[in-house]
Amino acid sequence: MEMNTKRFLVRPGDTVSLADHDPAETGGLTKKEAKEALTQLRLELNELQELLYASEEHALLIVLQGMDTSGKDGVIKHVITAFNPQGCQVTGFKVPTSEELAHDFLWRVHRAVPRRGMVGIFNRSHYEDVVVVRVEGLAAEKVWRKRYGMINDFERLLAGNNVVIRKFFLHISKEEQRDRLQDRLKNKRDHWKFRVGDLKARARWDDYMAAYEEALSRCSLEEAPWYIIPADKKWYRNLVISQILAETLRSLDMKWPALEPGAEGIQII
Ligand code: AMP
Ligand code: MG
Repeated sequence: MEMNTKRFLVRPGDTVSLADHDPAETGGLTKKEAKEALTQLRLELNELQELLYASEEHALLIVLQGMDTSGKDGVIKHVITAFNPQGCQVTGFKVPTSEELAHDFLWRVHRAVPRRGMVGIFNRSHYEDVVVVRVEGLAAEKVWRKRYGMINDFERLLAGNNVVIRKFFLHISKEEQRDRLQDRLKNKRDHWKFRVGDLKARARWDDYMAAYEEALSRCSLEEAPWYIIPADKKWYRNLVISQILAETLRSLDMKWPALEPGAEGIQII
């Protein structure tokens, strides 16, 4: 029995209030049940992705956004690995280089959009340009405010060209982030993940939530929806995203390509 994923969807036109979404939700499932369901879904995702790759009609673009420690890397490690790496490309978006800054903000993003047949994963994305840029004051309001419309136009362009877009906001609580950051300090193996600068964003938590609320409210499109994923429990986060991806790929009505004309009846000698 699969869960109903509709409740994680931001309906176009909805005004999002993140306080109304519980980051610790587990849908009444136990960790064991979720892990079993995930194992099944991973097999199905693998098959569906092979079909996407073979049929070369659609690209799938997965956008991951969320605060530090929200699990963007974890989703790539535990969900995206269901796919054949040959058909995937992961792009992480960092502080823009001077070359990137010399172009429009979507330039680096458009170049990273997957071709048909491929799955593209954005670890952060053009949404940084209306979130971190807004909160940290990296551009004037009249600059970033125009970007919501530009982002919608851009995503409509992609969707109109067979790029299937699904966007996931990994919603963690401030308390969960505290624990995860503290763990990074504790474990030697995680020290590389800790940046003192991340605390700056944590100190502006409410401003980030407000910036995310506006982005989620303004930029959830029928053809490129946002989902708010409860992410305090990693196993639930992984399950919900896997299920949404499976539903998305199932809905594409993909067909295995036919045998090349003239190849029928060939006997291999
Ligand atoms: P990480 O994802 O931990 O590797 O960190 C990447 C950093 O780059 C984060 O602090 C992001 O906020 C920052 N970043 C990504 N895109 C932009 C952007 N367009 N403008 C400014 N900072 C950005
Ligand atoms: Mg980081």
